[in-house]
Amino acid sequence: MVSLRRGQISRTAVGIDVTVMSSQGPARQLAPTWELVRGHKTGALSDNEYAHAYGALLSMVSNETWKWLFDQGNEEGAASLLCYCRDGNFCHTHLVALYAEHIQPDWFVCATQPPASVLDTEWAQGLVKTCN
Ligand SMILES: [Zn+2]
Repeated sequence: MVSLRRGQISRTAVGIDVTVMSSQGPARQLAPTWELVRGHKTGALSDNEYAHAYGALLSMVSNETWKWLFDQGNEEGAASLLCYCRDGNFCHTHLVALYAEHIQPDWFVCATQPPASVLDTEWAQGLVKTCN
């Protein structure tokens, strides 16, 4: 079991960059699109609209990529999803953790409590389980 946390990208942060700006390798599959990022930043997309659209991208992520993410767990059974957003803000890293636990509950547990802005989306409320 891998505990999925989230963190802010910094010089010292250890984890998996899942941003459209700088993710690499299999992690790119977990990045949103620039269109989504810009849409959310400008307010053209609400949190809920962003979550639905990004959730649709997550539903296309291959099983190999989820397995790859599982394999990124450290010896303590944890992996951190990194983005430029500050902790506590609406961020797609929370959506990844919620979704991963939803589709592979034997592999993943969401280990960073998402903010209300994430949990209050219809998208998140539509998932069977919420973060522990
Ligand atoms: Zn973010």
